Amino acid sequence: MFLTISTTGSAEHPATDLGFLLHKHPGKVQAFSTSHGTAHVFYPEATDARCTAALLLEVDPVALVRRGQGKGRGGAPDAALAQYVNDRPYAASSLLAVALSSVFRSALKGRCTARPELPDQARPLRIEIPALPARGGADLVHRLFDPLGWDLVQAEPVPLDEQFPQWGDSRYVRLVLEGGLRLADALRQLYVLLPVLDDAKHYWVAPDEVDKLLRAGDGWLAAHPENGLIIARYLARHKRLTRDALERLELLRLAEADGSEVEELDNAVGEIEEKPVPLAVQRREAILAALRAAGAARVLDLGCGQGQLVQALLKDVAFTEIVGVDVSMRALGMAAKRLRLEQMGERQSSRVQLLQGSLAYTDKRLAGYDAAVLSEVIEHLDLPRLPALEYAVFGSARPRTVLVTTPNVEYNVRWETLPAGHVRHGDHRFEWTRTEFRTWAGEVAERYGYAAEFVPVGDDDPEVGPPTQMAVFTQISTDTKKEGEVA
Ligand code: SAH
Repeated sequence: MFLTISTTGSAEHPATDLGFLLHKHPGKVQAFSTSHGTAHVFYPEATDARCTAALLLEVDPVALVRRGQGKGRGGAPDAALAQYVNDRPYAASSLLAVALSSVFRSALKGRCTARPELPDQARPLRIEIPALPARGGADLVHRLFDPLGWDLVQAEPVPLDEQFPQWGDSRYVRLVLEGGLRLADALRQLYVLLPVLDDAKHYWVAPDEVDKLLRAGDGWLAAHPENGLIIARYLARHKRLTRDALERLELLRLAEADGSEVEELDNAVGEIEEKPVPLAVQRREAILAALRAAGAARVLDLGCGQGQLVQALLKDVAFTEIVGVDVSMRALGMAAKRLRLEQMGERQSSRVQLLQGSLAYTDKRLAGYDAAVLSEVIEHLDLPRLPALEYAVFGSARPRTVLVTTPNVEYNVRWETLPAGHVRHGDHRFEWTRTEFRTWAGEVAERYGYAAEFVPVGDDDPEVGPPTQMAVFTQISTDTKKEGEVA
């Protein structure tokens, strides 16, 4: 997968400013590991007059399958094979969009610390993608890019085989865009429209995709004539998320119309220049989003600590029954205080319960819920106790959905205040790499009849991943397995 971005300039405004904008030095060849393979950034040309940056994504097809992109397990053998034999590695697609957003993250946000004036300036850009999968063909490419301010939008169908023109065209086009745009705007358009054109439903749509879409679409999506199609395809035709995005866009339009712009706009879309949101808040948001996406109403918060999540759950009436469980009476006491359990009206208090209990033992009170959350809890157990918790939660309580969050130890190098090799909290018995967590979650899912998906929480660093990792387990079989040895 290959994409080039070129610009022209002069001695006064050198084209090599592109290097500042992209935060990538024109003299270097750099490689970044992304979740789907390795992304290389290099500059085939870099002079004052003309500068081209190239992004080449080398996809690891096996990793792609392992990450649960396919749904082959237990399916027909040819479906399983199709996971390996596909066009992912060769075509520009959703994966390129993901790589684009992680490798050129600051550029996408329009940030440039070294030269803060640059991102606001439109500059002559030429973007080329030699093989872009385009369901809907050249015609759709034009409908999508023509309204976005480019002087030239070129989409040439790529023949299936140049030797055999009678075979006709492939579903790829060679895309060229030329015009004077701000780089951030161009990148955001690509971030949204590449997966829209690809229209493959091979990647999981996380609940926070709506936020990502609205952030990336800031300034152009609301007014785009094809925004219904863009949103539906981007969200992989996920009905509920699509409705949510359309409603929020409508809100934006209304806010703009009655002149109450900026403030409400920011509230509705979130800001593209992030105010640093505390990780605990981001974690809570991710959990709430995943619970909503799962349609959960009756929720267990296992290891609820001082009740912050219980409090957030209470604010949404969609959660009809909320049970916080913790082994620590002291934590439960603080939770009760935070929630003002004593002063609570009958209606609210009928929705919430705090229970003391240990997750290392099965507990009949915990059976029959829609979802259970284990937020930053497993790392507080000694590893040999973990199988007992696994059985108590996945084998005995067996909610339809289980969310588990835990620190990603790889990210620790990014905490400036954390000395090398230290865990984040004195009581953490272990902290896992992404691979360790995925391996554990995969095994638990397999053993107890769940499917596991993974969601990064917080700043998803291209090298070391996000600070918090979350697994979303969804029950796929209802028969409880008896795990005699750990029960
Ligand atoms: N879920 C909260 C708190 C995390 S701290 C949050 O995300 O902020 C971990 C919590 O797990 C503590 O409150 C601790 O008392 C609880 N805990 C640790 N081991 C436990 C066990 N075996 N059973 C129940 N709770 C436990």
